[in-house]
Amino acid sequence: MASACTKYELRCNECGKSYGNQPLSACSECLAPLEVQYDLESVRGRFTRETIAAGPANIWRYKELLPIPEGFLPDLPVGFTPLVRAKNLGKRIGADHLYVKNDAVCFPTLSFKDRVVSVALANAQAFGFTTVGCSSTGNLANSTAAQAARLGLKACILVPADLEYAKILNTQVYGARLVRIDGNYDHVNRLCTLIADEYNWGFVNVNLRPYYAEGSKTVGYEIAEQLGWKLPDNVVCPMAGGSLIRKIRKAFKELIALGLVEPKDVKFFGAQATGCSPISHAVKQGWDYIEPQRPSTIARSLAIGNPADGPAAAKMIQETGGWAEDVSDVELVSGIQELAEAEGIFTETAGGVTTAVTARLYAQGRISRDETTVVCITGNGLKTTDALEGRFTAEASVKPKLAAFDEYIRAVDGDLIGTGELQLAGGVR
Ligand SMILES: *Cc1c(COP(=O)(O)O)cnc(C)c1O
Ligand SMILES: [Zn+2]
Repeated sequence: MASACTKYELRCNECGKSYGNQPLSACSECLAPLEVQYDLESVRGRFTRETIAAGPANIWRYKELLPIPEGFLPDLPVGFTPLVRAKNLGKRIGADHLYVKNDAVCFPTLSFKDRVVSVALANAQAFGFTTVGCSSTGNLANSTAAQAARLGLKACILVPADLEYAKILNTQVYGARLVRIDGNYDHVNRLCTLIADEYNWGFVNVNLRPYYAEGSKTVGYEIAEQLGWKLPDNVVCPMAGGSLIRKIRKAFKELIALGLVEPKDVKFFGAQATGCSPISHAVKQGWDYIEPQRPSTIARSLAIGNPADGPAAAKMIQETGGWAEDVSDVELVSGIQELAEAEGIFTETAGGVTTAVTARLYAQGRISRDETTVVCITGNGLKTTDALEGRFTAEASVKPKLAAFDEYIRAVDGDLIGTGELQLAGGVR
């Protein structure tokens, strides 16, 4: 069997200059981000609905269009998360064909970052790095620490000092060195650029960023496959660095080019927290550039004030005829609760942002109720329980006696008893 390897290399987004394959994220001529480009013809015939269906039930079923080095043997079953019909949430917000792509349950660390880290670390090994790391707003830290442990790589991870406790613990438990930096994410990221050069470390979202970013395409492939090889009308996606939303579109374009789906102009809608909304602000202004902001929001996983892929994301959203919106911290907390109550999915602050923005887009009429819309839920609520602090008070305890319980439940929630009696009557009949 011919073991033809997919041809890919780094190219500059702006000027098109080629860089081969190396740990590098920006063009030396124009400083624009580098992006992995494929020779799509080299995979025609090897990337089909059939070859994909014959692959494993994880992101490696799409490995022909992922930048993984020759000889890399995929091991972790990352991704292939559920795409669920969200009828209840749809009813609440006036959407007839609403789906949730649920990366709150991604393996191994419960966010979509598991996808990007697995692709980045495959390359870190091939480039010979023995220490890896990242600058992170939390989820990336968790995933890098976990996957480095499994691969036997040393990990050094830098985060803003004010990160949620659960995200810090979820990094340290894997034995990674975690360094809290006095500053916001943008300070941390700049420092990481210097560190990566100084010590020759492989930082997944710095010098390995072009490879890392390709991992996000798997969200797009999965959405198309799980819709029965059809594209939705709209995608609503949270934005931090602005990478994920662009890569979902890239995935759709590749599927169209290779004939796996019918061509369709999918609209992309970006979601941010108002306290850090440089990309949604740019879209609303009609800009193709970003005015950096100083983040101030509890949606820390989205709190990147100077997003690397922000200009490209803003431009892309406008090209597709989509839109971007941002919501307050109060609204995002309601969004968390809304998704949990309607669909039984507990998401983190970023998912609260995405849910609240989706509701607003329907209310504004930017998305109409008969269209098919996929909402990308990217992280798990158990990591940001601080956001809900004070929402649910611990009630007084009750004696272990039926009479005591009966008195209590009638006082606090008499409606519950009503339904209980009905079911009992039905059972006896
Ligand atoms: C990192 C992250 C995002 C945004 O990703 P970008 O590709 O940087 O835009 C969205 N949601 C969650 C939960 C994240 O951790
Ligand atoms: Zn360039």
